[in-house]
Order: sequence, then C-alpha cells, then structure tokens
Amino acid sequence: MLPTHHLISIVVPVFNEEESIQETIKRLLALRGSFDNEANIELIFIDDGSNDSSLRLLRDAATREQCIKIISFSRNFGHQIAITAGIDAAQGDYVAVIDADLQDPPELIRDMYSLALAGYDVVYGKRRTRAGETMFKKLTATAFYRILSYMCEIPIPTDTGDFRLMSRRAVNALSELRERHRFVRGMVPWVGFPTAPLEYDREERFAGTSKYPLRKMLAFATNGILSFSRKPLAVASRLGFLVLFSGLLLGLYMLGLKLFTDIPVAGLTVILLTIIMFSGMQIILIGVVGEYIARIFEEVKGRPLYVVAEKVNF
Ligand code: UDP
Ligand code: MG
Repeated sequence: MLPTHHLISIVVPVFNEEESIQETIKRLLALRGSFDNEANIELIFIDDGSNDSSLRLLRDAATREQCIKIISFSRNFGHQIAITAGIDAAQGDYVAVIDADLQDPPELIRDMYSLALAGYDVVYGKRRTRAGETMFKKLTATAFYRILSYMCEIPIPTDTGDFRLMSRRAVNALSELRERHRFVRGMVPWVGFPTAPLEYDREERFAGTSKYPLRKMLAFATNGILSFSRKPLAVASRLGFLVLFSGLLLGLYMLGLKLFTDIPVAGLTVILLTIIMFSGMQIILIGVVGEYIARIFEEVKGRPLYVVAEKVNF
C-alpha cells in the first residue's frame, strides 16, 4: 500500500560506553527486522572523546555493517553537542536520537515511526517511570522540569529527555539553530510542528555508570533555564524595585520617629545591616547579569560547535 521507502537515521551519543555499546549495537541492528520493507536504517554513533575502548568497538562493528557510521570528536564536547553532530550528519527522512546505555528501549523507535507516519513531526519519549535511578536523581529531575516549565515561555514537555524521532522538516528547522549553549529538549519544542508523546518506562542502565555527574547535571540544568528564559533577569529587576520601595518606607518611618517622637533612631546598626543586605543582593544580581554576558561572549566568538577527528562509512 505504501510505496514509500524511508531512511531512518538513528543518532547515538557515546561517551565511555565500552560495557554497553555492543549490546546497544545488537539491539539497534535488530530493529531492521521490525521495519521489513518499509524503511532502512542508518546508525550514526558519535564518539564524544571516549577514553576507553568504545571507539575501537564501534570501528569493528562498522567494518562488518555498512549502515553503522561513526563520527569521532577530537575531545569530549558533551552530550548535547554530540547529538547535534549526529543530527547534522543524518541523511534520513526521519531522525531518531537515543542514548547508548539502553535506558531507552530501541524497539520503541518502531512505534515512534508509526506515530510519525500518522502525521506527527516530533514524537518524543515521555518517561512514565524511571527504573534504577536514585531517589535524589528522580526528585531533582522532577523539581527541575517544574521550575523549567514555570520559567520558560515556550512549553517544554515534562519528564522527557532526548529520546525522540523527528521528521525531515523538523530536523531541517532544528539544524538552523546554531547556538552554542544547546538545550536540545527545549530547542525542539521551539521549532514547533505537530508533536506527540510516546509514554514508556525508562529502564536501568545496561552497564557502566552515569556519565552525568552532579556537576554536569547542574550545568545542564542552569543552561536549560538561562538559554530559554529571561525570567532570572526580570526577577532581578523586580527585586531591585522591591528593595528600593521598602527603603523609602523605612526612611519615611524614621523621619516620622525623628519629627514626631522622642524615640532615638539606632543609627549604626541600621546602616550596617542595610549595607550588608544590599551588598549581598547586588553581588547576586551582578552574578545573574554576568551569566548572560558570559553567554553573549561565548556566542559572539562564533566558534564551530565541535571538531571532528574522523568519520567512518560516510
Ligand atoms: N554522553 C556523551 N557525552 C558526555 C556525557 C554523556 O555523549 O559528555 C552520552 C552517554 O554515553 C549516553 C548519553 O550521553 O549515551 C546519556 O548519558 P548518561 O546515560 O550517562 O546520562 P543519564 O542517563 O545518567 O542522565
Ligand atoms: Mg543514561
């Protein structure tokens, strides 16, 4: 019935995944069976500067299977940049993104594709449950997605990661966004187009440990908010007005004490407290402004997003 023969690109960022990469390749290749004659797949692995044997294992697989392609970075550029490089290189009519640790079941890409054929340009995986993640990670993740949706003008779906499938026109639009601080799961909703969720249970990591230590996670979260919202700046200026106003009230109150009563105004204490309070606040506010300026600085340099060391099977 459908004469279409699509190519589906599957983008997989890899950073020190030697324990799980072979299983991941196996499960992704097995996907071919579920597409029958409807579609072909190409697997694009981005080696994000791994310092274990991940790249060697990928090369071995790529000599056996032509549909396995590799982009290896000159160093570690980070998960979001790795995803971007894969999307840039993808030839497919549809492009899926999936982690290399099998937390997101590859078999779901088949269901995502069916939904895409039904007319959705973006089908994103929505985590119903998260197995094998610490209470801390679950709590902070929940808090983060709630704060984010309060802060941002465009609605970013809660409890989603980068596991999704996009149509060619959505990918083309996304590729136009060349910003350096990339928060891909926010950039995709910005692009728009009909979007549908696919609920799934997130599994435990197949092997190895998370490549997102707390430090990277915090940077990722801050970046998500700062890249998608001007609210921190608005909060800063509102706070300024609030303080100015309460200062005026306090001044009037003390003037009243002086003019109409005999109560002495405790000068030094009031002055010291005010100075300390205001200095602290000013430092915080300068910090907020500084964060945005740092981002401008990073952007205007206009450096490429990543440096490719080697490409295989392209
Ligand atoms: N990853 C990457 N570069 C990095 C960190 C992670 O390409 O600097 C990859 C990693 O190999 C995995 C995916 O990004 O395929 C998600 O990382 P991870 O599973 O460690 O994150 P978590 O699921 O714990 O949030
Ligand atoms: Mg993971």
